[in-house]
Amino acid sequence: MKKYDVIVIGAGPGGTTAASLLAHSGKKVLLLDKNPKPGGRMMTIHKDGFSYEMFPINCVPQHNSLFEKLSKTLGKQDEVKLILGDDFGIGKLFYENENGKITSWRMGYQFPGVLKILGFLGVKPWHFKSLVQMARVAGKLRSMREEEINELYQISAMEYLDSLGPMPAGFRTFLLATFGEGAFEMPSDHVAAGEMVKMFQQTIAGSGGRYYEGGVGHFFEVMASTVLEKGGDLQMNTRVKSIQITNGKVSGVTTESGETYNAPVVISNAGIRQTVVKLVGEEFFEKDYVERIKALESNLACVGYRYFTSRPVLTEPMNVLFPEGCASKYEEFEAIERGESKPERGYIYLGTTSLYPNMAPVGQQVIYAVVSCMPDPKVDPKCYLEYIERGVRKIAPELYEPGVISRTEIMTTAIVPGLGNDAIFPGQGGESYGIANSLGQAGPQRPKAETPIDGLYIVGNDAEGFGLGTHQAVDSGFKVYEKVMERMEKA
Ligand SMILES: Cc1cc2nc3c(=O)[nH]c(=O)nc-3n(C[C@H](O)[C@H](O)[C@H](O)COP(=O)(O)OP(=O)(O)OC[C@H]3O[C@@H](n4cnc5c(N)ncnc54)[C@H](O)[C@@H]3O)c2cc1C
Repeated sequence: MKKYDVIVIGAGPGGTTAASLLAHSGKKVLLLDKNPKPGGRMMTIHKDGFSYEMFPINCVPQHNSLFEKLSKTLGKQDEVKLILGDDFGIGKLFYENENGKITSWRMGYQFPGVLKILGFLGVKPWHFKSLVQMARVAGKLRSMREEEINELYQISAMEYLDSLGPMPAGFRTFLLATFGEGAFEMPSDHVAAGEMVKMFQQTIAGSGGRYYEGGVGHFFEVMASTVLEKGGDLQMNTRVKSIQITNGKVSGVTTESGETYNAPVVISNAGIRQTVVKLVGEEFFEKDYVERIKALESNLACVGYRYFTSRPVLTEPMNVLFPEGCASKYEEFEAIERGESKPERGYIYLGTTSLYPNMAPVGQQVIYAVVSCMPDPKVDPKCYLEYIERGVRKIAPELYEPGVISRTEIMTTAIVPGLGNDAIFPGQGGESYGIANSLGQAGPQRPKAETPIDGLYIVGNDAEGFGLGTHQAVDSGFKVYEKVMERMEKA
């Protein structure tokens, strides 16, 4: 029976951050994951000359990210090559107005080109009233101080934006779709307004479109190697079956193959609900805590295509089609799921990482085309796939020219639990991140990393942290690291 200072279950972005920082600070760490290598839901795959993640990825922010803080802290900044959207293109947005007219805006290089943005949003430069409305709303969001933002966790992003008075339809859709639903994978009538404002400010300050040569998952493989280098153990292909509790304190973990490892601190990246209900067991917690955990809302999932092409199609890593009205309400996703309606206005993400160096055979691309849906692993992708194809034909028709697509794979919600956290409740498990940044579970109300069990912490998208997907998980990893170090220094 081996003893460690800390055991980390899961080498996703959150678990890897916490484990590597603790190892770097001299703690004896065991990092376990059921997957063959670190990266979690963003594990990098190498196949047929392509390197890619199973799902589309856009890293926000581009500049001053916590990924750089992590690699520098671990002294590994030279082992991961940062790719900036400023050098490779951030992306192109397409707005389809209610009459079906599509306008576009290439982000980044033309940022100062105000006229381009206005054209994209369907606003004429001489519409003085619209310009004033947009400037007022953008100025308010941009200059909002932290105390004011903290007041915006009881109101949804949609309700808050609508309370700011009239603004051009395209501008409202752009804000909600980009900084609400797009960033948090949750309809803007559920996302807390405080999160939307913070995301707006972070993106204005640091832009988006960061990547790493070799893949985002590769970044976490490099960070996780710290654990081994500092005398800890990295055990992949190892599923944790249970977390041991002795006299009310955490004492270790048991793997599915029956090995037991001991530590006074266990950090779980396996999901807050999965950790409480499945790995520890409800009986170890107060009823109120279990009820709150069970009631947490998952964020949305994505379904779509991975196309492998025989020639280059996309010139931008990220392309998004926003149809007017796409900033939809949660109930609209539920209605589609019940078969009462079909996807008609969802925004479509069309992206590739093959534009970056050494990510694809010369002249070929892997292209993701996805749309959001409910997080049930049983979602039938059929109606979404039809919708995606109709949309992609509007913004990249060349993809469907004869001979361009050499192979197609379908991304379903069912794949997600295989790479990420287990599906343990009906309708849950396919979510892109984990628990949603929605009202009642965002900002100050977000579940804490500490659990009621002494020594047991949660890390990743399910506890604390702020940001888009991987960035939130890394933020959570830093926070858990600080908490565990403080605890150990006191002991
Ligand atoms: C379709 C889709 C699109 C996305 N788009 C983006 C994007 O554009 N930008 C972005 O930043 N993020 C994006 N994400 C989200 C990103 O993948 C997550 O935010 C991130 O992976 C969460 O990190 P995590 O550490 O919280 O958890 P995870 O990545 O889920 O890692 C959890 C780890 O724990 C392991 N584990 C779980 N249970 C056990 C167990 N019992 N025993 C051992 N190991 C276990 C898993 O194998 C996994 O490796 C997307 C995700 C999806 C699915």
